[in-house]
Amino acid sequence: MHIDARTLDNNSLIEGDLCIIGTGAAGISMALEWIGSGRNVIMLEGGGFDVEARMQALYKGESLDRPYYPLHAARLHYFGGTTGHWAGYCSTFDPIDFEKRDWVPHSGWPITKAQMDPFYARANKLLELGPYEYGAEYFEKQDPEVKRLPLDGKVIYPKMWQFSPPTRMGTLYRDPILKAENVRLYTYAKVVEVVPNRDITAIEGLRVKTIEGREHQVRAKHYVMACGTIHNARLLLASNSRAPNGIGNQNDLVGRFFQEHFEIMAAQLSLEKPQPFRLYTIPAAGPVRARAELALTAEVQRKHKILNGTASLSPGVITGREQSRFATFSPDAVANVRSRKGKSQSQAVSGPLPPETSYILTTRQEQSPNPESRIVLGTEKDELGMPLANLRWKFTKLDKRSIRIFYELLGQEMGRAGLGRVQMMDWLLDKDDDSWPSILAAGWHHMGTARMHDDPKQGVVDANCKVHGLSNLFVAGDAVYTTSGAVNPTLTVVAVALRLSDHLKNKVLV
Ligand SMILES: Cc1cc2nc3c(=O)[nH]c(=O)nc-3n(C[C@H](O)[C@H](O)[C@H](O)COP(=O)(O)OP(=O)(O)OC[C@H]3O[C@@H](n4cnc5c(N)ncnc54)[C@H](O)[C@@H]3O)c2cc1C
Repeated sequence: MHIDARTLDNNSLIEGDLCIIGTGAAGISMALEWIGSGRNVIMLEGGGFDVEARMQALYKGESLDRPYYPLHAARLHYFGGTTGHWAGYCSTFDPIDFEKRDWVPHSGWPITKAQMDPFYARANKLLELGPYEYGAEYFEKQDPEVKRLPLDGKVIYPKMWQFSPPTRMGTLYRDPILKAENVRLYTYAKVVEVVPNRDITAIEGLRVKTIEGREHQVRAKHYVMACGTIHNARLLLASNSRAPNGIGNQNDLVGRFFQEHFEIMAAQLSLEKPQPFRLYTIPAAGPVRARAELALTAEVQRKHKILNGTASLSPGVITGREQSRFATFSPDAVANVRSRKGKSQSQAVSGPLPPETSYILTTRQEQSPNPESRIVLGTEKDELGMPLANLRWKFTKLDKRSIRIFYELLGQEMGRAGLGRVQMMDWLLDKDDDSWPSILAAGWHHMGTARMHDDPKQGVVDANCKVHGLSNLFVAGDAVYTTSGAVNPTLTVVAVALRLSDHLKNKVLV
């Protein structure tokens, strides 16, 4: 059932068993699991069924330390959330991504890849991906033309991705949700405060506002926040009428550890002769909806004490005129960032190379979890009176060092196998230079602001996504990521939401 919260009498009371706040990848994945469960489920969506400038303006915020995409454009505030314009690239985290790595401070999830596997398999279906297969062999068997580079696999291996159509969750799953008798979807129901009891041990209710200024109360037995990484943190921090530092923030962790994926042009690959390695260049829209990227094995990451990352190949030559994707959205933004030594930010590679032997290598890498990289509340407020969320995106030395070592190892492997050579761009050459070039971009991926850890001093939620210290508040989505892995986040968002849903069904709302 659908109810437009703007049509309710002012000060209405909405009651249910389970309340899901937000209807993006995480919120919709959860809600689908509860259809026909006999439980009275409330879904609260701040926006409506279409993207509206007035609703997007509620997402405004500043990137205070370095250029980033405009925050009000980086997430969509309506039914379906940011799946309304995601690109659909999906892959699973690797087992090492969940592990405690002594060279990566703050790493180590309280769950393993093996525990996630059944949920990944279910998530694959919801995102309309192919079979739950992420080994290159499976795709090579589909088509004899699809081959990997002839490397022995000890250092570099093909990390597989699958492509979702991309699933627009707000379109595909709108009907089942609206037709469900036990699910009530409220649109234009923006949660502006999560209100705890006086002892701050449980959530008592929610304050909801509509854009026209009506206010309603929501009461449920259990609450799941699925507002996205930035807005989950914002809502927790802004809910400070009873808990002065915000909800779940007794150890000053909410909003910290914001992570993105570095996406940056890094090197030129020149092959000795053309290679039949179509596995890395399969078109996203083709019949085999999968593609590989070059990745370093877990053993090599351990040996060199570096982060997980991959490189994609695209035919072409680096020209020296490349720009950051941030610049596309904010023309003035990149002018402020220069490399420490004032070098040119990318280097022209001399002479055009034959296209079938010349590839640009672009990095996709996890960001080391860093407490100083964070979402903070601003002094400015949005139209509904909520403080805006600003971004302080900060890096560590390990972030850049890992990219450089990746390409050194890739170059050695290519040379050893007699395949060709890898020429790093000049921003990567000096191992003492920690600066970042203006061509830096990121994946539009937001992770980590309500991180998962069994120890309340190190995490906001426990292994079941329950906020430490509160009996009935849970967080879904990539806010709970302890580390960010090297792959795009949404398959894991859905898998984590399904895992949370099972936990609530089997252990909490039994
Ligand atoms: C351009 C772009 C391309 C991308 N491409 C990929 C890709 O190829 N692969 C990939 O894996 N990921 C990709 N992503 C990331 C992907 O979109 C996110 O990982 C995913 O949408 C996160 O899901 P979520 O449910 O946590 O958040 P969202 O999808 O952002 O949903 C949050 C929901 O909460 C609602 N909400 C927020 N605050 C409140 C409130 N206070 N009260 C009520 N409702 C609220 C919002 O309206 C929205 O419905 C891309 C993102 C962008 C921007």
